[in-house]
Amino acid sequence: MMDLLDLRDVQLTYKLGEQALTVLKRVNLRVRQGEMVAILGPSGSGKSTLLYILGCLLKATKGSFHFAGHEVTSLTADELAELRSREIGFVFQQFHLLARAGILENVMLSAHYNHSDTRSAEELRAKAMSLIESVGLEEHIHHLPNQLSGGQQQRVAIARALMNDPALILADEPTGNLDSKSADQVLNLLGEIHRNGRTVIIITHAQEVARRCQRVVSIHDGVLEAAEKAGERPVPASLGDAGDVHLTWDAVLNHSRTAWRNLVRNKVRSALTMLGVTIGIAAVLSTLTLGTYTRSKILETYETLGVNKLVIRAYPRWNVKAKDLKGPKFEGVNQESDVKPMRHLFPEIALISPVIHDWVRSVEFGGRSFDQAKMIGVTPEYFPITNSVIAAGHAFTPYHVSAHSRVCVIGAEVAQKLFDRHSPLGQIIQINGNDSKQYSCLVTGVLMSQTSNNEWSNPNQQIVMPESFLALMASRWNSKPNELDIQMASGASAEDLSTKIKQFFNLKYGRSAQVNVDSDEILVAQMRRFLNLFAILLASVAFISLAVGGIGITNMMLVSVSERFKEIGLRKALGARDQEIRMQLLIESLILCLIAGCAGVVIGVAGYHSLLYLASKLFPKVHFDWVFNWPAIGLSVACIVVVGLASGIVPAVRAQKLEVVEALRSE
Ligand code: ADP
Ligand code: MG
Repeated sequence: MMDLLDLRDVQLTYKLGEQALTVLKRVNLRVRQGEMVAILGPSGSGKSTLLYILGCLLKATKGSFHFAGHEVTSLTADELAELRSREIGFVFQQFHLLARAGILENVMLSAHYNHSDTRSAEELRAKAMSLIESVGLEEHIHHLPNQLSGGQQQRVAIARALMNDPALILADEPTGNLDSKSADQVLNLLGEIHRNGRTVIIITHAQEVARRCQRVVSIHDGVLEAAEKAGERPVPASLGDAGDVHLTWDAVLNHSRTAWRNLVRNKVRSALTMLGVTIGIAAVLSTLTLGTYTRSKILETYETLGVNKLVIRAYPRWNVKAKDLKGPKFEGVNQESDVKPMRHLFPEIALISPVIHDWVRSVEFGGRSFDQAKMIGVTPEYFPITNSVIAAGHAFTPYHVSAHSRVCVIGAEVAQKLFDRHSPLGQIIQINGNDSKQYSCLVTGVLMSQTSNNEWSNPNQQIVMPESFLALMASRWNSKPNELDIQMASGASAEDLSTKIKQFFNLKYGRSAQVNVDSDEILVAQMRRFLNLFAILLASVAFISLAVGGIGITNMMLVSVSERFKEIGLRKALGARDQEIRMQLLIESLILCLIAGCAGVVIGVAGYHSLLYLASKLFPKVHFDWVFNWPAIGLSVACIVVVGLASGIVPAVRAQKLEVVEALRSE
């Protein structure tokens, strides 16, 4: 017979901080194929440690160990995992069944990690069923492990050990937790397995168990008593050719089932943890959506107010010396020599009006007086440029401008103060100028009342008149217009036009004119920047809350990894590779985040819509819209996946690093 196991001078030393504890000392053991061997020894003698070495769960500190021809000490972790899943069936004293999985699933678990297995799912199922039958548990197929007696649980474990048709069955005190009748059944089963040609090693401290084996090897304080002759060594079968672990749908389904079980096991804890991610995703989605929505709404209103307006302010520079001047000295905008050529030169100008501003002491009519009136001297184009609507009467004409006519259009407040409820149209008001002279002026129209928060130029307090007339009565430094209000042709760029106009003044007046351009477009650009900043700020708060939610998931998964210490250890013993353990935890956190995140998306959409609805009820001017910001929803879904993976990384690495032997020993 060939040697299945061959240990030579194996030594195992545990390191306990500074101390080293040698548990196995120069162990030599050969087990031939088809043998049934008992390793007998008192508690603490190193039996389990030896079993872990034989089971390729622990590497010897010294010596060599051949398993089916392989030098185990030189195999990689993945190769060891494959060797375990293919060649070794474990039976433990504590059974180590998955508590929340049915019997069938428990039996099939070891096949799950056997990557060289080519059997179909149907064949595996049939195999598991026949094994369950052979251990006499077909009636209990629908039970969970905790609904079975100890003996029945151990029989499930034996069925699981046989699932991959291993060469070796390793049983560590298989009857240690059983009554004598169950123990008898279990030992009978193991004997039957041996008779069917498999190698069986039973570790025990009980003589009567050892007596049922072909050969008994005693161990005392890490020293094995009997050594026997060497047999032939088999030619090792290739390992690791099963290749990498692929993420199949089957595996994903399996991991998902495990994840779901862990989730429902502790419903309150899971729900509370997931709430963090739900809130985070809802916050991200609603802030992103509402941010862009309000920004577009605000900018929309700004644009209807007119981003196609340009205000040019040109002032004379007083400190320019005459010798520095090449052309005329700038004293104010001139209708004939400035405005007309500009209109000619720049087709971007749709409407243009020079503007003179001046205050007067007061305006009077029929004994009433108003002393807050503001004089605006313009050409008729001023009205459409400023969107001013004439409520009654009419505006003046270019003819009035060239004739210096004493006509005016008055603001709503002026009309109300001077005329009360009577019509001002056709009436003549008295203007008390700053030069102590009085001017009379015919009212041709009244402006529609406008809401304005501009104290300095409240349109309701304005008296708008031809600039040629205002130039007559305005104080000396105000008598020349130094403002030009422009409405641009559609599609024209405010930036381009303002540069051109600046060039125009510069060429004509040199340094004597100082020109500033004010554009709503520039204001809107600033507004947009501000709104963007605001949206980013809001979204970052949301992202922080999402990150906090993700940390919650990490935390819960870490707790669950320590809770499932034994389960993960068992999976590794059955041949799960590090990569698979990692994958399982990543899928688990991904599922948690997917459920929480989808709830977050739904709550987010519902949430911001109710906010919009509430706003539409509170502010009649706001009307309700259905808003689906697909980029924001897409980003939220991406966040769910990222958070799911990110929060699984730490638990996954923790689980992967877990020591199998420690996990199996833990109670
Ligand atoms: P048995 O199964 O025969 O009762 P074990 O193999 O479980 O014996 O343990 C043998 C000795 O090794 C015991 O003294 C135990 O305390 C010690 N031991 C087991 N595991 C560790 C460990 N991880 N670190 C240090 N000592 C250990
Ligand atoms: Mg033990």
